[in-house]
Amino acid sequence: MAGIVAWSAFAFIGLTSIPIIRKRMYGLFWASHWIGFVTAIVALMFHKPYTGLFATICLLLYTKDLILRLILKTRVVPAKIIAFPAPSSDLSSGSTQIILPLRSGWRAGQHVFIRVPALREMGGMAWLENHPFTIGSGEGGELVLIVKKAGDWTRNLYDFALRGGVVRLSVSPSPEKDDGMNEVDFSQEDKRDMNLVERVEEVLGRNCKVLVEGPYGGPCSTVFASYSGIMLIAGGSGITYSLGMFEDVIRKAEEGHLRASTVHFVWVVKTYEHALSLLNHLEDLNSRACQTIFKPLITIYISRSFRRETFTQGSIRFVTARPDLPTVLREGVGKTRSDILSMSCAPGVGSCGMIVGVCGVSMRFTFISLVSGRSSRLTMLWTTA
Ligand SMILES: Cc1cc2nc3c(=O)[nH]c(=O)nc-3n(C[C@H](O)[C@H](O)[C@H](O)COP(=O)(O)OP(=O)(O)OC[C@H]3O[C@@H](n4cnc5c(N)ncnc54)[C@H](O)[C@@H]3O)c2cc1C
Repeated sequence: MAGIVAWSAFAFIGLTSIPIIRKRMYGLFWASHWIGFVTAIVALMFHKPYTGLFATICLLLYTKDLILRLILKTRVVPAKIIAFPAPSSDLSSGSTQIILPLRSGWRAGQHVFIRVPALREMGGMAWLENHPFTIGSGEGGELVLIVKKAGDWTRNLYDFALRGGVVRLSVSPSPEKDDGMNEVDFSQEDKRDMNLVERVEEVLGRNCKVLVEGPYGGPCSTVFASYSGIMLIAGGSGITYSLGMFEDVIRKAEEGHLRASTVHFVWVVKTYEHALSLLNHLEDLNSRACQTIFKPLITIYISRSFRRETFTQGSIRFVTARPDLPTVLREGVGKTRSDILSMSCAPGVGSCGMIVGVCGVSMRFTFISLVSGRSSRLTMLWTTA
């Protein structure tokens, strides 16, 4: 009987891990793991008593991990939570920014788990849940998280922030056409989107205490600044990772510790509107970068588009198409190579390869297949968001 219980518990874990169930009922997938794991271990102890010692060690290690995470890795921090309006083309979307006054103890590219007790006012159990988010800012500044609406908890957080008002944005000038590029023929809807927003006029939001657990993960001992070329590629909400790494690279350049002279920043979004709330921030980062020794090349690909067109707005290049990732990668390698050749006469300058940081689920899988068989001078680093 105990054997059947242990087997059923493992089968339960396996069943809820099937992608369709995991994606639609993440809560069930998560609960099945710890309930299934504890049930399976205890049942195994009864089924084969000689496994008792090993099972007890496993349970003690798991309990120790939970306790240490709670005591040593968790702190209560005052936070500002701001709602960024959903694009009108995709009202189910929208994002929330969590700003935490933690200026040290973390690295760009790491992630933290967040629990917001104030979500009690939204009803339900959301206030008890713990969710992971990648740090979207560079070291030395405030810790910023960008939370995209994905399911119940993120929607609750957005609605909670919304009660403090949304970010107010003012009208922007029209985009410039790229020299030598295709004639741009935007639809009425595109034109309306592009004229929507330029500057953030007023940042509203709500202040509350949040429980921050972590940080975890990140680039470990990999130092982006030590490579001859840097490429950051993000899909959708994976932008958080790229923003954090980009800001970090800028800070290294300001301190004179950056080897690369070009940083390629590639972001793939569904529509122009999805990029709007971060355009100002990208422009600010770009002007900070331009005061240092390197040149950022920021390209935003708009994937939901019928024809391929290219235009620039400020310092950002937009391409209305899905990116051809092998070509993007080849261009990055080519630019890095020419940078190295043009600087090879400088003393102490050698070739240190190119690093590519990738974040965003679909991006990650494309790159895993793309990278097999590539040169060892190309370092790929992908993160889990
Ligand atoms: C290391 C890491 C870093 C992340 N960084 C970011 C980020 O910077 N910005 C951002 O918007 N999102 C990020 N995510 C995803 C984010 O954690 C989930 O979107 C969020 O927890 C969804 O919660 P929900 O209850 O609203 O959605 P649910 O209804 O529970 O799920 C919606 C979708 O989100 C996924 N999901 C739910 N909970 C988790 C979880 N705990 N871990 C991973 N995936 C989950 C599910 O597969 C599901 O498809 C990150 C995830 C991980 C693992």
